[in-house]
Amino acid sequence: MLSERERERYRRQILLFGEEGQERLKEAEICIAGAGGLGSPVALWLAVAGVGTITLIDPDTVDRTNLNRQVLHRDRDIGEKKVASAQEKLEELNPDITIRAIDARIDAGNAAKLVGRADGIVDCLDNYAARYILNRVALEKGIPLFHGAIRGMYGQATTIIPGKTPCLSCIFPRAPPEEEFPVVGVTPGLIGMVQATEVVKFLLGTGELLANRLLLWDGMLAQATEICVERDPACRACGDRGKGKRRRGGR
Ligand SMILES: [Zn+2]
Repeated sequence: MLSERERERYRRQILLFGEEGQERLKEAEICIAGAGGLGSPVALWLAVAGVGTITLIDPDTVDRTNLNRQVLHRDRDIGEKKVASAQEKLEELNPDITIRAIDARIDAGNAAKLVGRADGIVDCLDNYAARYILNRVALEKGIPLFHGAIRGMYGQATTIIPGKTPCLSCIFPRAPPEEEFPVVGVTPGLIGMVQATEVVKFLLGTGELLANRLLLWDGMLAQATEICVERDPACRACGDRGKGKRRRGGR
């Protein structure tokens, strides 16, 4: 049930989703991996939308070089843990939701536990090693992975639904080389917004998800294109060979 205060807070979106939709958002739990360039807009917009429980995972502290894009953090937060800084801002924005701040680096050993009972994982990471780990967790748990990545003025996003779409390893069998890549804050802002939109649609069961489609954004040309993506039967994570090694999903 929504409180009177919540009915007031969400009035303009209840016009769109109804109280039932708003209650669904309230009951949902979403895990955001990374509280940086992508994680900031995703967390901000899911928080104001009223997603009831948001788990944020990030091991880093705020650095001055983050501030051109990581809009959850302020100059005064330099040296603070990113998840603590993020939690403070999000609770200020919306005191009616729960923020679980987890100061940890995702690895193969802890990922499933950190994700917990989340209804979906938002990939706001900056490295493919951890992305592949989350991809496996999403496959194991049978929950969606909302992928987003950026470089400079380019960005991409897709929604991975286990059993229905290719997984991250099908689409990107090899990781690009690690580097300190250039980025302008507007790019993760835009891609994060796409990811957050996907999360809201998924939770409400409405609209057409970015499933089996990879959205590519070129900010220089102000051009969005999309390519169809397909499952790879030989995929190391979700293919027939990978399956035998996987535990059965819990949900
Ligand atoms: Zn796959």
